[in-house]
Amino acid sequence: MPHDTIFLKIVRGEIPADVVYRDELVTAFRDRHPQAPVHVLIVPNHVIPTAADVTADDEAALGRLFVAARAVAEQEGIAEDGYRLIVNCKGHGGQEVDHLHLHLLGGEPLGPMRARRG
Ligand code: AMP
Repeated sequence: MPHDTIFLKIVRGEIPADVVYRDELVTAFRDRHPQAPVHVLIVPNHVIPTAADVTADDEAALGRLFVAARAVAEQEGIAEDGYRLIVNCKGHGGQEVDHLHLHLLGGEPLGPMRARRG
């Protein structure tokens, strides 16, 4: 089933994850391969495959991703120092899981957004 993603299984509680926030629109859980001291993924509770698939119907859930990110950042104690929010899209964006998700990274200085060319 194209819309049955690993993240949807986490939302439904069908596979284990370290869930740090949950409401009726979004779920947040720790990334299993953290790239920073704090690395949390925040996903809509319904599948939007990529950022290129968003529609007006998704606006409430997409807005909630940011509200949840703020809450999780405060909960994790990284709000004051700052953090990075990332959405990867499709192949060139490096997206691995086709269920739109916001990466919340922090807990140390994260350096430049990407390696400089050349
Ligand atoms: P992206 O490359 O933006 O699609 O990011 C996918 C992220 O999902 C990666 O950082 C993975 O480590 C993470 N990931 C994949 N499967 C799981 C899982 N079952 N639980 C937690 N994180 C996961």
